[in-house]
Amino acid sequence: MKYTTDFRDIKQFKPFSFRGMIRDFALTGLSVKAKLPRYKESFFKPRIQFLYIHHVFDDEISKFDNLLNELSKCHTFIPYSEAIRKITSNEIDKSYISISSDDGFKNNLKAAQVLEKYNAKACFFINPDSIGLTDFNKIKEFCSRNLNFPPTEFMNWSDVDKLLKLGHEIGSHTMGHINIATTDLNKVKDNISESFDVIQSRCGKVEHFAFPYGRFFHFNLPSYNYVFEAGFKSCATAERGCHISNEKINLDELLIRRDHVVCDWNLDHTM
Ligand SMILES: [Zn+2]
Repeated sequence: MKYTTDFRDIKQFKPFSFRGMIRDFALTGLSVKAKLPRYKESFFKPRIQFLYIHHVFDDEISKFDNLLNELSKCHTFIPYSEAIRKITSNEIDKSYISISSDDGFKNNLKAAQVLEKYNAKACFFINPDSIGLTDFNKIKEFCSRNLNFPPTEFMNWSDVDKLLKLGHEIGSHTMGHINIATTDLNKVKDNISESFDVIQSRCGKVEHFAFPYGRFFHFNLPSYNYVFEAGFKSCATAERGCHISNEKINLDELLIRRDHVVCDWNLDHTM
């Protein structure tokens, strides 16, 4: 009965992947190229890039710090709501980064400590069903069934309050991390609006939604409409990409693209 506290424990169990090796090799090549002045300039291109993490384990704290330090040299960190507002009002005048985190692990509090150093405010997408779980076996089951992850402690509601007091936002990631694409539509509708009600009553306010697993094929159009009917003002994916200046866009026509980052990755590769 032991929770995961270090990322190295997770890496140890990941099988060797040929695809991963090729990707590493390609990224090393790209990162050398990215050091050229011409490519460095692209970091300053006006855009909003949403980065999201899942965890900052003990052995990832200094790596997360290094990442934010590097990013702060050529970007301005903005809160999630501010980023959405800038996109919809077509005010993307600089290179901005907005950070979010999915799944509500307890180690997100460590992420918050590092974010504080850079005065960066994030949005934490949580599953109310896992918040406050204390039974090890239930946590183990939730992590394994829904997150494909070893048993890792979740935040409780007073941890969520701490994040709010620090100025972060709380968003919904559905009640229990369901795969929307394979769930009955009536259940999806209830699940999305229940998560809105629970988080709003616990946190006073909730505006943003990120659907679990995050690829377009994990989602569908009716569910997209339920998100806005429930009262959310934005809907995020885990599809890579950034947002650039555009014609004015309505909130309910906007799917947020986010880039996944693992703090443990080689910093040059991430950049
Ligand atoms: Zn998730």
